[in-house]
Amino acid sequence: MSPIKKLYDFIVIGGGSGGLAAARRAAQYGAKVALVEGSGRLGGTCVNLGCVPKKVMWNAATIHEALRDAGDYGFRLPGAAADAKPPVPQINWQLLKKKRDMYIQRLNGIYSNNLQRESVEYLSGYARFINDTTVEVNEGGSAIHLEASKILVATGGYPIIPSDVPGAEHGITSDGFFDLETQPKRVAVVGAGYIAIELAGIFHELGSEVALFTRHKQILRAFDSLIGDTVLGEMVHSGMRHIAHSHIKRLERTEKGITVHYNVEQLNDAGEKTGEQEEQTVVCSLVWAIGRAPSSKEIGLENTSGVEVNEHGYIESDEYQNTKVNSIFALGDVCGIAQLTPVAIAAGRKLSDRLFGPPEFKEARLHYENIPSVIFSHPPSGSVGLSEAEARERYGDVNIRVYNTRFTNMYHAMTDHKPPTVFKLVTMGEDERVVGIHMVGRGCDEILQGFAVAVKMGARKRDLDACVAIHPTSAEELVTMR
Ligand code: FAD
Ligand code: NDP
Repeated sequence: MSPIKKLYDFIVIGGGSGGLAAARRAAQYGAKVALVEGSGRLGGTCVNLGCVPKKVMWNAATIHEALRDAGDYGFRLPGAAADAKPPVPQINWQLLKKKRDMYIQRLNGIYSNNLQRESVEYLSGYARFINDTTVEVNEGGSAIHLEASKILVATGGYPIIPSDVPGAEHGITSDGFFDLETQPKRVAVVGAGYIAIELAGIFHELGSEVALFTRHKQILRAFDSLIGDTVLGEMVHSGMRHIAHSHIKRLERTEKGITVHYNVEQLNDAGEKTGEQEEQTVVCSLVWAIGRAPSSKEIGLENTSGVEVNEHGYIESDEYQNTKVNSIFALGDVCGIAQLTPVAIAAGRKLSDRLFGPPEFKEARLHYENIPSVIFSHPPSGSVGLSEAEARERYGDVNIRVYNTRFTNMYHAMTDHKPPTVFKLVTMGEDERVVGIHMVGRGCDEILQGFAVAVKMGARKRDLDACVAIHPTSAEELVTMR
C-alpha cells in the first residue's frame, strides 16, 4: 500500500521546547504546520525529564533546608521546651513523585490544547527524512509522507551511558532518576556538570548518603572557577563525599545493591599522576550524569542532500538555524550549543519569525552571546557572560578589572548552617563594561535574570553603582561593590 501523502508549509520534527515554540509561532502567522513527536508526550526533555520535574525536586530539597532552619528561627512543636528543636520531617518520595507526575501530565495536556488552538496538526510517531522535503512518519501502523518546503529538526538529545564500563547498565541516568519510586539511601553520582551537581544536591538535601565521582578535582569547569569551587566547598562542608580524580571501572549488581569498582588517581605535589588506587563501594543507585548526545542518528539525515553533523553527531547550523540544505533547519539540543530550554524556545520563535513573519523580521535570529543560566545547586549558583579567565584571554589582563565579594546572607545570621554567598563582577576597559557576572548563594536563581538584562544592554560598573540598593537583600551587594 502506498503511503498517505500530506502537504504543509512547515514540518517540525520534535515536540520539545524548540519544536513547540517554532510550530506555534509559524501557525500564528497562518502557516500550515505539522508537528511530529515520537515519545507520545509533548513538552520534550524540559517538561518530562528535565527542568520541570527537576525543579519540583529542587523545591522539595529547598523546603527540607527551610524545615531544618525552622528550629534555629525559634519554631517549636506545641508544648515543647525552648531548647527542643522540632524534628525535621522526612520526604515521602513516592507521594511527591505521584503529584509531580500528575502535574506533568497536566502540562502534556496543556501543550496538546495549545497546538489544537493554534491549528498545528500533531502527529504522534517517529519521523525520518525520505528526501530534503519529505519525512515519513509511522502513525498507528500506517506510513504517512509529509511534504513541506521548510522542515525543522528539533529532536533534542538523550543522556549518555558509557560503553566502556562493564555493567554500566546497572546505573541509571537523569531519565531514570525521574522514575525512582523510592529514595535510595546510598547514591553514587558520576559527573561534574549541571545534572550531576543538581541531582547530587537534591539527593543529599533530602537525606540520601551521596558520593560524587568526578574525573577532575573541580566541578562545573565550564563556569568561572568561583562557582565550582564555592559549590563544591559547600557540598563537602555539608557532608557529601567527593571522590575526585576517579574513574569508574565496573559496576556489579549484588544482593546488597550495586558494587562500584573505581580507580582513584594518585598525584604528586606537582599534580602529576603517579599511579592509581583500586577501590570499591556499595550503593543502592548509581546515576550517570556524564553529558548528553544528540538525537540525530535515526532521523534519516543520510537521505538528505547533505545536512552535516560534527564529530559528536550535533547538527551543524548557522546563526540563522540554517543547515547546509536550504529546506532544512535545526535548533536546540540537537545542535549542541547552549543546551537550555529558553535558548531552544527563543531560537524556534526567531526562526519562524524569519521564515513566516512580516518583512521586518527577515533577519530575525537568536543572538547567542550573554545567555544567563542557573545551576540549581545548594545554594543555587548562576552566571552570565564571560568567566574571568575567558575575559582575560579575550581582552588582555590590563583591560580587565574584577570585583569580588563574599558574605553570609542575613537569613543565615539565625541559623547554625551558614553557606556562603559569593559574587564576582568581571569588567572590561576604561569604562568598566560588565562582561561577566558569577554568583553563588541563596536567591541567586532569581536575582540573576535582572542583572543579565543589564549585561545584555551593555551596563557599566557605574550604571550598577548608580542604582539605589534594595535593603536588606543579598542582591544589593551587586550595586555596592568596591
Ligand atoms: P527536547 O526538549 O529534548 O525535545 C526534543 C523532542 O524530539 C523530544 O520530545 C523527542 O521525543 C522528540 N524526538 C526525537 N527524535 C524524534 C523523531 N525522529 N521524530 C519525532 N520526534 C522526535 N534547561 C534549562 O534551561 N533549565 C533547566 O533547569 C534545565 N534542567 C534540565 C535538567 C535535566 C535533567 C535535563 C536532562 C535537561 C535540563 N535542561 C534545562 C535542558 C533542557 O531540557 C533542554 O535544553 C531542552 O529541553 C532542549 O529543547 P529541544 O527542543 O532542543 O529538545
Ligand atoms: P554537561 O556537559 O554539563 O556535564 C557533563 C560533565 O560530565 C562534563 O562536563 C564532564 O566534566 C563530565 N564527564 C564527561 N564524561 C565523563 C566520564 N566519562 N566520566 C566522568 N565524568 C565525565 O552535561 P549534563 O549531562 O550535566 O547536562 C547536559 C546539558 O543540559 C547541560 O550542558 C545544560 O546545558 C543542560 N542542563 C541545564 C540545566 C540548568 O539550566 N539548570 C540543568 C541540567 C542540564 P569534566 O570534564 O569536568 O569531567
